[in-house]
Amino acid sequence: MWPRRLVSIHQIIIDWQLAWGAAKRRLQATWVKSAYSSQECSVCHYTDRANRPDQQTFCCAVCGHRLHADLNAATNIAKRLDDTELQACQTKAEIKVLLMQRHIAYREHQRLAVVQPPVQLGLFETSTDSG
Ligand SMILES: [Zn+2]
Repeated sequence: MWPRRLVSIHQIIIDWQLAWGAAKRRLQATWVKSAYSSQECSVCHYTDRANRPDQQTFCCAVCGHRLHADLNAATNIAKRLDDTELQACQTKAEIKVLLMQRHIAYREHQRLAVVQPPVQLGLFETSTDSG
């Protein structure tokens, strides 16, 4: 673990390199809050350290979404570009609460989206007559 002061200097160097690299390529660099981007499921928003069984693997403990951890985190970062609600969060704790609220909303939406089979809705006859 780096001492806090060294992390700050390190972050300044990385920030400068990213800004320089983007300007060189005539691209726009945009700041995004990255808290929990490596622990958040890019499908259901469930956020937990347990979603990362190892450095390379992301496997959601709730929905089972599984892919390379870097790809999952990059997907989350990309989704956050225009996420004003997340950008308004002032602390990591607020971000975690927001992500878990989104997970609950996702699960509620999924529960409501379960479609009853047509037979149970009475849309088709269930007669077993074969002829
Ligand atoms: Zn998930």
